[in-house]
Amino acid sequence: MSPRILGVIAAVLVALIVLSRAQRQDAPAATVINADTDALVTAGAPTQGAVVRGPDSIGTPSIDLLARLAIRRRLERDRGRVYLDSLLLQTDSTLVRWPDRADKTIRIALVADTTVPGFTPALLDHARAGMAAWQSNEAGLQLREVDDPLTADIRVEWVTMLPDSAQLGLTEISWEGNGSANRARIQLALRTNPDSQVVPAAIARRVAAHEFGHALGLPHSPVDTDLMFPSSPVAAPSRRDQATLLLLYAVPSGPLKDP
Ligand SMILES: [Zn+2]
Repeated sequence: MSPRILGVIAAVLVALIVLSRAQRQDAPAATVINADTDALVTAGAPTQGAVVRGPDSIGTPSIDLLARLAIRRRLERDRGRVYLDSLLLQTDSTLVRWPDRADKTIRIALVADTTVPGFTPALLDHARAGMAAWQSNEAGLQLREVDDPLTADIRVEWVTMLPDSAQLGLTEISWEGNGSANRARIQLALRTNPDSQVVPAAIARRVAAHEFGHALGLPHSPVDTDLMFPSSPVAAPSRRDQATLLLLYAVPSGPLKDP
């Protein structure tokens, strides 16, 4: 083969590699990960679920190299006291949270659906109790109920059962390329099988509190005394839940991997 032909082949290969890299960068890196597929489940206890979805569009990473390094070191140092590591596994190393706002308000719409068999207004109150569990969070976020689902950040809906019938809650978050959450949806199930009773009030409140934790950006905790444990027996955020939320909102959102 002549050197000229080899040169042309090499040039074509380089062009193809560059093109494929460019396409990879353009493609939306939509990641849908069910955090509960390998969740630890306490026998007999219904699990709570989380789906983290996003990003919607690829923006310019907003965290520079030194800041990323500092945040990684902080997560490393605080391991044990907080549990953000599992979030980074779900999101390909992107810190996802709601953007900083002057009033720190997260707007929440409870979307009642009387066509779901067994739905009662009491379920709205159970969801409100779940919201209230986070009301005095150390990150200073204010959870405020709004009437219009279109203006809400987090939309709460009720379904008879979830696709994984062992789960009673499911949360999806969409985010921009800079890790800034733009909307979330919580689905709360009334039953774990078609013939079972509607979920008891205490469990409904606990599941709602757990799902609001996901909707604020928290991943699962590996510790069963935390509200964010997959099938947590507790109904309110623990010290570690609060510390993890505080850290999540103390650092900038965005990718932590070096480009
Ligand atoms: Zn969960």
